[in-house]
Amino acid sequence: MKPAKERIRIVEGDITKQETDAIVNAANSSLLGGGGVDGAIHRAAGPELLEECRGLGGCPTGEARITKGYRLPAKHVIHTVGPVWRGGNRGEPELLAACYRNSLKLAVEHGVRTIAFPSISTGAYRFPLDQAARIAIKECKAFLDQEPSIEEVSLVCFGPAASDAYRKAWREVFGEEYREG
Ligand code: ADP
Repeated sequence: MKPAKERIRIVEGDITKQETDAIVNAANSSLLGGGGVDGAIHRAAGPELLEECRGLGGCPTGEARITKGYRLPAKHVIHTVGPVWRGGNRGEPELLAACYRNSLKLAVEHGVRTIAFPSISTGAYRFPLDQAARIAIKECKAFLDQEPSIEEVSLVCFGPAASDAYRKAWREVFGEEYREG
């Protein structure tokens, strides 16, 4: 098994374009669509995605649900509900960590080998980016250290500010610079 460090990538771009087995959606608890990355994923997947989501009956914060990807290049969408930032003392860090763990667990259960995550909770939900990036990398590393079936996790940064924050978090978690490829 390759070390986690060689199976996690930081990429800058649009998650709806990722050609991975699954992409993760930063959804809200209704699972009925919203703005930000959620809106972009629903627009790119087409109306069948919303139809399938309607049948799921929502999702609590920190948990995850899976649907098909419809018109997306990805075969599956894993919908997870990040915490709204309320100052950091309402369990936000633990709930965000649970989003990554539960999404990866569901991925393994469905035979997903490559998966792309957006920066959950760091848009409308206002989770501080540096801390969110550290949690994302730490949780993905811990999961991959235990689970050989996931070949690649892409952490998709929507713009250079996110990409810088993820590279900084990488240095903190791995104790070395992030290297492409
Ligand atoms: P949340 O409600 O969980 O905060 P948002 O969609 O508002 O979700 O933002 C989450 C992150 O997704 C933000 O960092 C935002 O910049 C990013 N984002 C928005 N659109 C896209 C996209 N098309 N691909 C990847 N990331 C995106």
